[in-house]
Formats: sequence, structure tokens, C-alpha cells
Amino acid sequence: MSYTKHIVIIGGGFCGSITAVNLMKNANSPLKITVVNSGGPFILGVAFNSYTSNHLLNVAAANMSAFPDDMAHYVNWVKGKKEYSEYETELLSKTFLPRNLFGEYLRDTWETTMASKRSDVEVNVVEDYVTDLELMQNNSVKVLLKSGSPLIANYVVLATGNSLPRNPHIANMGYYASPTYFRNPWNINSVSNLKPEGDVLIIGNGLTMVDTVTGLLEQGFKNKIYSLSTHGFGVLPHRHFGITYTGLAKELQTRYELYRLVGIVNKHIKKVRKLGISAGPVIDSLRPYSQRIWESLTLEEKKKFLSRLRHLWGVARHRLPVFVYDLIQKLRLDGQLIVHEGKLTNITEQENEVIVSFYNSKEKDNESISVQRVINCTGPETSIFKTLNPLLKKLAEKGIISSDPLELGINTDIKTFKVINKEGDSFGNIFTLGTNLKGLLWETIAVPELRIQCKQLSKVLLEACEKDK
Ligand SMILES: Cc1cc2nc3c(=O)[nH]c(=O)nc-3n(C[C@H](O)[C@H](O)[C@H](O)COP(=O)(O)OP(=O)(O)OC[C@H]3O[C@@H](n4cnc5c(N)ncnc54)[C@H](O)[C@@H]3O)c2cc1C
Repeated sequence: MSYTKHIVIIGGGFCGSITAVNLMKNANSPLKITVVNSGGPFILGVAFNSYTSNHLLNVAAANMSAFPDDMAHYVNWVKGKKEYSEYETELLSKTFLPRNLFGEYLRDTWETTMASKRSDVEVNVVEDYVTDLELMQNNSVKVLLKSGSPLIANYVVLATGNSLPRNPHIANMGYYASPTYFRNPWNINSVSNLKPEGDVLIIGNGLTMVDTVTGLLEQGFKNKIYSLSTHGFGVLPHRHFGITYTGLAKELQTRYELYRLVGIVNKHIKKVRKLGISAGPVIDSLRPYSQRIWESLTLEEKKKFLSRLRHLWGVARHRLPVFVYDLIQKLRLDGQLIVHEGKLTNITEQENEVIVSFYNSKEKDNESISVQRVINCTGPETSIFKTLNPLLKKLAEKGIISSDPLELGINTDIKTFKVINKEGDSFGNIFTLGTNLKGLLWETIAVPELRIQCKQLSKVLLEACEKDK
């Protein structure tokens, strides 16, 4: 006898909500979908719930559609808004728009899809926290909630997304309980209610540092902002945005040894520099091939990449709109933003100040600075054993999920999105996507890759529902 299948999606950020949208759009038979979300606003997640419109997307509008088969979807939506209607579509496509505008787009997309779905597709969004999963004999899964009654699902999707950053190791780990420490850099509290006296330390020197600096300035902060990172690489701008470079892609093969690939990339960077063009277009041209390249590297090469090239790649890949970059440069020239390269060694508190000690790699000396606040901008933690997400920790302890070999996320069969348990088997009814696949795919954290996964996973789920009828 056939009965309505129930898909429970844990996490209602981009991945969870757009997977649900794809399910709603493509379901051919009755279906029940429950999205359980807690800890962040539904659909927006931390990424698209910015506290200011000055936090911009780091991907141009042309590449931010929620649907891989309708690439103009986002730009058309923007163009349809009164405040953007006067701009040419071509121009809008090339802009880096506010992240909270993108959040509005996702909300609208959700509502439009809900309004047009089949009436026998039931969708519920539950505000609750999933604490555990229990595998049942008939292959279904009991989803335990913090406050509500358990749900019984035929299929479960772990769309748990971004965790808070890891606390860097320091001698006095107890400091991290202090109210002067802000582990969540995406919350407005991290930049508000500062005292008139005293500087601020930002740990990290990437795009989140830039967001935080923007937030601090908006709050009227006038004192010094220190940024400390192990490599001290400065953030780079999109200097030659809009130029398409195809030379490198033509030379890519199915399998490369890591350093041979680096050699080829460098050769192409040198080639474009002769024309006065920055490395940006060469780096961007790798994006469609990044997952394939990553998969073709050996485990040893991936480890080499992580230990020697990861930070360099991060700087080359995650760039800023030029005018934001100019602001950062001006702050550095004015002496308000001071970027240090080094290793954080300790943080202690004295009466009215926080003393930060670090080894300055450039000066080759131990230094300390006095600040009123420390903000962690080192980026989301992905390891399932180190994450603050209790559900992932629990599932890992029970062996229902396991780490990928690089311990960057969840071990998964990337063709079917099924998680692989401690014994090396995939249960067949628990799936994951997004950041959780970082160790397996590397390039799996932003919309251009996530929208493809949402679509593919919804197809896998609908096929499974059909097969299990
Ligand atoms: C600050 C920032 C800026 C970014 N900017 C861009 C950009 O400009 N362009 C781009 O393409 N990408 C950007 N990204 C990448 C971005 O993360 C992804 O595009 C996308 O938002 C990730 O969505 P997600 O659903 O995987 O995770 P999230 O948005 O993190 O959503 C996961 C949700 O699941 C919830 N959750 C977790 N565990 C449970 C549980 N056990 N029970 C219930 N709920 C749970 C979480 O609280 C959260 O609400 C940015 C990321 C960040 C952090």
C-alpha cells in the first residue's frame, strides 16, 4: 500500500529551504515536507541576515540565482524591485548587492513556491532544535526535537550549515567565557555597545573581518582596530571583474599533481599580468572545475594543499568589491586598522582591559596589545567533532555519521548525498549537502555550488520516494 512519504529537513538556511523549494516544484505525487530550523532566522541563515545593507554579497548578482536552470532568476527579481528598476539588467548582473536584499529574494521565492505548490504537498516549518536521530527498523528515522514531539521521517536531510568559529588555542582558554569575547561575528552585538575608550582585536583577516570593520565604523567606533591572522595576507579586490579568461580551462586535464597544477595556474597569471590584468580572472576561471580538481587530488596532495596553500587560495578566491577594498586600504593608511601577521598565544583580563599576547611573525618577537573586546572572525568551524552543533556531535558519537578523511565535514557518498556511517556504509535515508561536504568537494560553501546540490538532492529524494512507494 502506498502512503505519503515524509521528508524532514534539519536546518532552514539556503540549503534546507531551497531543497524544499525544489521538492515542492517537482513533486509528482503527495508528499510531506517538514523543515526544522532553530538558531538562525528561517531561510536567511547567518549569511543573508546581515545587520546592515553595507554587508555585500561576495558573488556578483548574475551568479546568485537560487536555480541552476534559471540563471537570470535573481537579477530579474532585483530588476522587478522599484528601487532597482531604472538600472539596466546588464549592469545589475555585475554588481555586488546587499546580502539582506538576497535574503528578501529567498523569502519571496519561498512564498511564491508555497503559493503555487500542489495541494497534496504538505509543507511545515517548525521552529525547534533537532537533538538526535534514532534509526528505526523499517528504515525510517525518528527525529527528536528539543521541545516538540518526535517526528517520524522516511528521509532526513542534514542541512545544518555554518557553525560558529573555533576558539583559537591559547594558554588561558577560560578567557573565552568572558563577556569581552564575541565568538559570533555575525551578530550585531559583536560591534555594538563599545566603550568610548579602548581598541578592538579581530582574530582573522578575511571577509568576515571586513564585515566586522564595516559594522564597527557604522556604530561610530573611532579607536584602533587590530586584526591578527597567522599568514597576514591582505584581502584582495575584484580588480578586473567581468573579464572572462578561458586560457587556463583549455589546459586543464582530468588529473593533476598538485604542484604541477599550481605551476600551470602561475603560468597563466604571469601571462595575463603582461597585459596589466590581475590574477583574479585566472582564479575565477578555475571555479567551475574546482570540485573536479579537488576530487582528483590524492589524500596526501589535499593535505599538502591544506597545510601550505589553503590561506593563499582563500585570499585569491574570496575577494572584495573594489570600493570596499579601498575603504580597508584607507583605514590601514590612516592607522585605524592595523593588520598583524602572527600567532595568538594568550588573552587575559585585567581590571578594565583585555591583554592580547601574540608572536609577531614579521618582527619575530612576542608582543602584546591592550583592547576592550575580542571578536572571532576566523570563519565557520566545519569539523563534526569540534563543531558547537550538538546534533552533529551526537550523531558522530553514535557512529551514524563519520568525518571525511580530512575531518572538514561529513563523510558522504557525493553522488547520492547519503551520509556514510562509522562502519563505512550509507544508511540510505540520511542525506547531507553544503558546508558538510567541504572535505569531499572543497568548493561547496556558496550559492553557485549549493543551488546545484539543492536541485540534485531533491531529485534523488523524489526518485527515492517514487521507488519506495
Ligand atoms: C557571513 C557570510 C556571508 C556569506 N556570503 C555569501 C555570498 O555573498 N554569496 C554566496 O554565494 N555565499 C555566501 N556565503 C556562504 C553561505 O553560507 C551559503 O551561501 C549559505 O547561506 C549556506 O546555507 P546553509 O543552509 O548551508 O547554512 P545556514 O545558512 O548556516 O543554515 C543552516 C541552518 O540550520 C540550523 N540548524 C543547524 N543545526 C540544527 C538543528 N540540529 N536543528 C535545527 N536547526 C539547525 C542553523 O541554525 C541555521 O539556521 C556566506 C556565508 C557567511 C557565513
